[in-house]
Amino acid sequence: MKEHEKKFPYFLKKSLAGAKKELPEATRQEKKLPEGVRREKELPEGARRAGRILTDLLFPPRCPVCDRPVKPFGRDICSECEGMLVRIREPRCLKCGKQLRDEGAEYCYDCGHRRHVYDRGAALYTYACIRQTIYRFKYKGRREYASFLGRALAENLGSLIRSWHPDALVPIPLHRERERERGYNQAELLAGELGKRLGIPVRSGYLARVKNTRPQKELEGAARQNNLKKAFKIVQDDVKLNTIVIIDDIYTTGSTIDAAALECRKAGVQRVFFIALAIGKGL
Ligand SMILES: [Zn+2]
Ligand SMILES: [Zn+2]
Repeated sequence: MKEHEKKFPYFLKKSLAGAKKELPEATRQEKKLPEGVRREKELPEGARRAGRILTDLLFPPRCPVCDRPVKPFGRDICSECEGMLVRIREPRCLKCGKQLRDEGAEYCYDCGHRRHVYDRGAALYTYACIRQTIYRFKYKGRREYASFLGRALAENLGSLIRSWHPDALVPIPLHRERERERGYNQAELLAGELGKRLGIPVRSGYLARVKNTRPQKELEGAARQNNLKKAFKIVQDDVKLNTIVIIDDIYTTGSTIDAAALECRKAGVQRVFFIALAIGKGL
């Protein structure tokens, strides 16, 4: 028995034990930290900023457009390069958000001919202008691009996302093996940046990719949909979500979003939206 406990009568000790049990999980975990160890959030802001600057000096973040160290220092994209990215503008397809050429049209050709499982979505950039960026972001380890890309998503599509009142952002998962090879999931990085800026929780563990599918770009039409059959599975089925926004890097035909949305609907999600970094142009 510890010294201070000897001074307490039995009934007080009991209520003290009860009170400890009622402490929220986070508070109890704080107690487990060894003496002298500080949580990152407890570090003074100045120290954190200094740490970041030092890391940036040693490993300068690369620009998502030109892939050279960002100029001027301290930004997440070169001031000159930012203007090279082409954003999707009105008129947009009311379903998938593709830019339309015809002012009078409501839907793009694809959405006019096919029913989607999701409710609605939008993308930020035309695929053509950001193809190389996404390639390096996914396959060349340029995870630092997430900082600019997530910020751009939040700044341009933040109010649309908020208008949907989502309970959570759900990134399209990678198969376990692919994520291990790559070291990260680019959609999860985007969702993380976006969620942080908009104050919306990110549920990366909600959905899993249980089938290591072939890349969709290698397939056409019906093969794309077959490829994705039973590709996703809800793993956190104790989590009750009503409205979600699925986050992905590229929207092409919507097969991936639809396959993921279908599983979410089966689990009781009422409204499923999506946000993608890039989308092709519709007709
Ligand atoms: Zn640049
Ligand atoms: Zn469309």
